[in-house]
Amino acid sequence: MLHIGCHLSSSNGFEAMGRTALSIGADTFQFFTRNPRGGRAKDINPQDAQNLLILMKEHHFAPIIAHAPYTLNPASADAKTRDFALMTFADDLKRMEYVPGNLYNFHPGSHVGQGIDKGIDLIIHTLNEILDSKQHTTVLLETMAGKGSEIGSKFDELKRILDGVKHNQLLGVCLDTCHVNDAGYSLVKLDDTLAQFDKQIGLKLLKAVHINDSLNPLGAHKDRHAPIGEGTLGVQTLAGVINHPALRNLPFCLETPNDLDGYAREIKLLRSLYKE
Ligand code: FE
Ligand code: FE
Ligand code: ZN
Repeated sequence: MLHIGCHLSSSNGFEAMGRTALSIGADTFQFFTRNPRGGRAKDINPQDAQNLLILMKEHHFAPIIAHAPYTLNPASADAKTRDFALMTFADDLKRMEYVPGNLYNFHPGSHVGQGIDKGIDLIIHTLNEILDSKQHTTVLLETMAGKGSEIGSKFDELKRILDGVKHNQLLGVCLDTCHVNDAGYSLVKLDDTLAQFDKQIGLKLLKAVHINDSLNPLGAHKDRHAPIGEGTLGVQTLAGVINHPALRNLPFCLETPNDLDGYAREIKLLRSLYKE
């Protein structure tokens, strides 16, 4: 059974996202915990969260993914920006306890000229501050495209973060197909790329996949998502990703430029390409 969903708006709450997911043939989804540019999050209605958990159980959902605001930068050179990242992160994880057992994905950060080593140290510091051994959420580092001074476009950088964190049993990785392509890891040679991932990080730490086509060629370091089949990866390569023995049971989440109808069509297409 292919577990697949897409990014949804969280403006009507948890249960509404679950119902929207069902209406487009999804059995997982992703949402921003707050405005993607940051700012205050809406209060959580515990009953609404509970209703989603019931719906997810009834319909055999895979874990869902909360996405941190993409402006959150724990590797910033500016102490205020780092503080904001830390507070947002901690607040989001507290809120995730209303929907225990799910995933929280974030972009590791950009070192903005301080260098990779310093950036990695700052990310580790933040994770050590906010992870709570009693939490019920797995925190995922997303593989990045390597645009600007982004950290995490090389598997080895993610590994260094994972190794530096005390409660790293709470951590995992989310592989974004557009990002790894743009970072220079081939999805045409998927076996080689996953062997490298396994050697440097360990495939057991891979907990979710963002399934996107890319507007740019291998190694472009750009990060521009395309609808499935309308980018340089193409339908056949992405079908190889959802069917790969090491990946096929993970939750897949579309982050393609689409409206709900477009997402419903992509979910249908990928389900039709999945070999049961
Ligand atoms: Fe992301
Ligand atoms: Fe992504
Ligand atoms: Zn992206």
